[in-house]
Amino acid sequence: MQRRRFGSTGFEASVIGQGTWPLPDRDALQRGIDLGMTHIDTAEMYGDGRSEEIVGEAIAPYRRESLFIVSKFVPSNGTRPRLQNACERSLQRLRIDYLDCYLLHWRGDVDLAEAMAGLEALLEAGKIRSLGVSNLDPWDLREAAQGLRGAQIACDQVLYNLGERTPEAHELPWCRDNGAAFVAYTPLGRPRNRAAETVLTAIAGEHGVTNEAVALAFLVRDPLTFAIPKANALTHVEANAAAGDLRLSEDEIKRIDAAYPIRNRSGALPMN
Ligand code: NAP
Repeated sequence: MQRRRFGSTGFEASVIGQGTWPLPDRDALQRGIDLGMTHIDTAEMYGDGRSEEIVGEAIAPYRRESLFIVSKFVPSNGTRPRLQNACERSLQRLRIDYLDCYLLHWRGDVDLAEAMAGLEALLEAGKIRSLGVSNLDPWDLREAAQGLRGAQIACDQVLYNLGERTPEAHELPWCRDNGAAFVAYTPLGRPRNRAAETVLTAIAGEHGVTNEAVALAFLVRDPLTFAIPKANALTHVEANAAAGDLRLSEDEIKRIDAAYPIRNRSGALPMN
């Protein structure tokens, strides 16, 4: 499993992580960790904390330093006192004493400067090792970055898959310019297009992996990028882990790029 630096944090995370919504399965998460998918994404919102509890059960036997645990708070918890409490509750459910990265889940009507100040306070208190955001477009990313006194935004986690490549033209350049990681959620989504699928099938056959593994490897071809597929089926967990060792050739990347072309986006960053 390839690992790479998570934005400008100086910490490494597995390029393929594990999503946890809808509710994850403890055994599947552990199988994923054993295969190197030690980067786990959760959120207080997922099952009203139940996802974090299951992650907590799954990670309990592992060395804390071997894991990269990310959670998210809802915008309504983005004020300083509420954020401190939300973080404490997440840590309790996860049974750990720090998060590797803590994200604002979406913009909502949060005061970004206040939320960033709250995150910096958690950083100073040692409750989190880095701070980030999710579902923010470049406009909001700039505003969030301006609200920080010294810390940097470690990542933007966005909807990014073969059917939704517009973030490559919008959010990815911001991440590149600002040293942030670019994290793909719902990475397995793609249009039902038989002709395009045959391209994935051919490449998958050449490597002895699944079409999904090829799709994931394509998304993480950029050295800033991570993907967090969610899988409860063990066969899916194993297929996704295989993507972490799969290196596509320039020619394979060109063929996938042509089959699932990037499109322009004029509206807001999609969230589903
Ligand atoms: P996804 O990971 O693209 O797809 C999950 C679905 O694909 C599940 O039905 C899963 O089935 C199936 N699957 C997984 N691996 C597979 C494989 N190798 N072959 C075939 N099918 C496979 O989508 P997602 O769950 O929406 O997104 C992933 C994670 O991103 C979430 O769990 C969550 O942590 C995060 N997320 C974040 C946001 C945000 O706003 N920041 C929004 C949505 C999601 P089984 O479970 O049955 O194996």
